[in-house]
Amino acid sequence: MAAQVLERMDVGAPQGGKKKLIRRSAPDRSQRIRHVAQVIFLVLNGWIAAQFYLWVRYFERGGHGLQVSRPTGVEGWLPIAGLMNTVYFLRTGSIPAIHAAAMFLFLAFVLMSLALKKAFCSWLCPVGTLSEALWKLGRKLFARNLRMPRWLDLPLRGLKYLLLAFFLFIIGTMSAEALQSFMVTPYGIIADVKMLNFFRDIGESAAIVIAILVFGSILLKNFWCRYLCPYGALMGLVSLLSPMKIRRDPEACIDCAKCAKACPADLAVDRLMQIRSAECAACMECVAACPAENALQFSLRPKRAAASSERWRRRVVGPAVFAGILAYIFLGMVLFARATSHWRTTIPQSVYMDLVPRANSVTHPGM
Ligand code: SF4
Ligand code: SF4
Repeated sequence: MAAQVLERMDVGAPQGGKKKLIRRSAPDRSQRIRHVAQVIFLVLNGWIAAQFYLWVRYFERGGHGLQVSRPTGVEGWLPIAGLMNTVYFLRTGSIPAIHAAAMFLFLAFVLMSLALKKAFCSWLCPVGTLSEALWKLGRKLFARNLRMPRWLDLPLRGLKYLLLAFFLFIIGTMSAEALQSFMVTPYGIIADVKMLNFFRDIGESAAIVIAILVFGSILLKNFWCRYLCPYGALMGLVSLLSPMKIRRDPEACIDCAKCAKACPADLAVDRLMQIRSAECAACMECVAACPAENALQFSLRPKRAAASSERWRRRVVGPAVFAGILAYIFLGMVLFARATSHWRTTIPQSVYMDLVPRANSVTHPGM
């Protein structure tokens, strides 16, 4: 009953006196497993980028040199196409012919957010991984990371939601015909090549912006993800529907505040009963930092029971199971798209031979 009452409260009651620490019996493995997942996804994306570059070079050389197939996984880098195709699919019930993989990958990441909060950001996204590496480098160099004052931090966090609202408004108000017409334009077909060229022929202003982002990411934790990424904003909003959350048991907790100190999103983990925030990326840094047995878990709503261990029984998702669920959703979606022949975009070679070499002169149809 006590657990039920506390579960309904947002903030744990202050405890009188110092509580006895019952140390965790098993060492935490969450960060090791998460870092392995991050490295696997980083390597996968590096491999996709290298193969895509070779594929583009083949057409730029007029069909000479090494010929490789187009790595469809590159469409994971086309979130706008993924969103457009999803809206098209919702409106028509038909799977689009161009960049369907962008839609399947987008849906896989949305499903992950429904199941495991914003896990995509802290377990898989290569930008999130690089961001994390940069702020950890900053902490090593300067012994700490900067913290924005709260009055500035909150409105800045809102920027990513504004960017998301902008994209949702533009795409959400397009008709199915308009969405399809956009996708079959030269710009839509080679959106991935345009993206590669953006980084290959980077202009002075874009280079300055990227340098500012890198510098900001060294000083502040997850600078890009925290303030500017509309994709993360969407995953965060979807994650509000997830039944899984970081949950604290105030009876086992000794109020040491190590969890809050470890949280890259600066959430008050030590004072809340559960973390509902759209900013929680399910990184489990808080769980890893917690010294007390059964005090902090990534879990479903706990059971009503007198003993702390009983309350969590069959409710907790450990890091290995967590990684397994992510792999299941990701591979399941890719295999489903492959099995139903919707994975690859089939465009005749002659079209690519025409468009890829002159990609820089192909402009957005709205311009
Ligand atoms: S609350 Fe825990 S899981 Fe969520 S972002 Fe903070 S440290 Fe990561
Ligand atoms: S790390 Fe957080 S949840 Fe764990 S004992 Fe300390 S205050 Fe409680």
